[in-house]
Amino acid sequence: MVKFNTLLVRGGRPDDNSTGAVNVPIYNSSTFRYPKLGSDVKWDYERSGNPTRDAVEDVCAELENGDRGFAFSSGMAAIHAALALFKPGDHIIIGDNIYGGTFRLVNDFLKPRGLEFTEVDTQDVNAVAAAFKPNTKGVYFEPVTNPLLKVSSVKRIAKVAHEHDALVVVDNTFLTPYLQKPLDLGADVVLHSATKYLGGHSDFTAGMIVTKTKELSDRIYAVQNTIGAVLAPQEANLLRRGIQTLNLRMDRHIQNAEKIIAYLESNPKVSRIYYPTVDKSSQDYKIISDEARGAGGVLSFEIKDGLDAAKFVNSLQLIILAVSLGAAESLVEVPAFMSHFEIPKPERLKMGIKDELIRLSVGLEDADDLIADLDQAFQKI
Ligand code: PLP
Repeated sequence: MVKFNTLLVRGGRPDDNSTGAVNVPIYNSSTFRYPKLGSDVKWDYERSGNPTRDAVEDVCAELENGDRGFAFSSGMAAIHAALALFKPGDHIIIGDNIYGGTFRLVNDFLKPRGLEFTEVDTQDVNAVAAAFKPNTKGVYFEPVTNPLLKVSSVKRIAKVAHEHDALVVVDNTFLTPYLQKPLDLGADVVLHSATKYLGGHSDFTAGMIVTKTKELSDRIYAVQNTIGAVLAPQEANLLRRGIQTLNLRMDRHIQNAEKIIAYLESNPKVSRIYYPTVDKSSQDYKIISDEARGAGGVLSFEIKDGLDAAKFVNSLQLIILAVSLGAAESLVEVPAFMSHFEIPKPERLKMGIKDELIRLSVGLEDADDLIADLDQAFQKI
């Protein structure tokens, strides 16, 4: 078995003996020929399977040490497919700090269809344990959350969940398999918004699920094939290509984040920095050190009360004001006015998201240029 960095570059790629092509071709074919009526064919119709999509699904299964990978047209399509493992009457414990789109799926789509959810602070394993009911069938959470970078233990939550025969589903968009492999830590299903670090270049949306067992794979495959929100071959190829450099990009994202944190720590206009390794005495730091090999490329910080976050982000010239994360280019957003705008202010403040909170997805530019950009914007507020 080759090492992870080799798998990134070479995994999931069948030899193409007919042409010798080094890359898996982009098979733009919605349907596939049957040599004869009744032939047993590997591919027959793109929604059910496509060789280009297979290649990226296979490499992700290998990277996560899972049974099988499934590529979707967006992260939300993947989350929908994972939550389709549950049926009306099932109770699912969900993290209280998960992605807003997942809350919308839960509240506006799944609850009206008879699924029951309880929001829990998954940093508190005792609270997770206390939330189980006789009909609890799953726990769904993000090991590192947005925008406050709160860390939850996959190991501890998986242990509690399995004592109750519940499935553990983890959205690991922020860490990627390069930094953490939730299936090795006890999760049953790991998923990603592959739009972010796995794709890595802000040029398409995608989602990925990897399952731990064949039984779960069969169930997810049935959903993928039935609902049909599959990743198209062009995007599957882009995702495959992005994944080849995941290690290099993540290392650089982290290096740049650390340099920016050092700059922010010395800035008197910054009141707080959110990144799991900033406070070495915290539980978050302990869990990240134990269960991951790095904290990723997203950080948040608060500017001092009364300073104008809008003026700050509008003054940035290099760092782009945009939602999303995990891209080559650095992106900045103000959660209170962008990603978390829909949450009523009192509730948002209770979650710890102040108007002065700024989230940075640190890109791959030269850190000196990013710091210079932040510095000139700080001088304007
Ligand atoms: N999960 C997380 C943690 C996210 O940040 C996002 C998007 O921002 C999603 C899921 C949804 O993914 P997509 O936008 O690819 O549908």
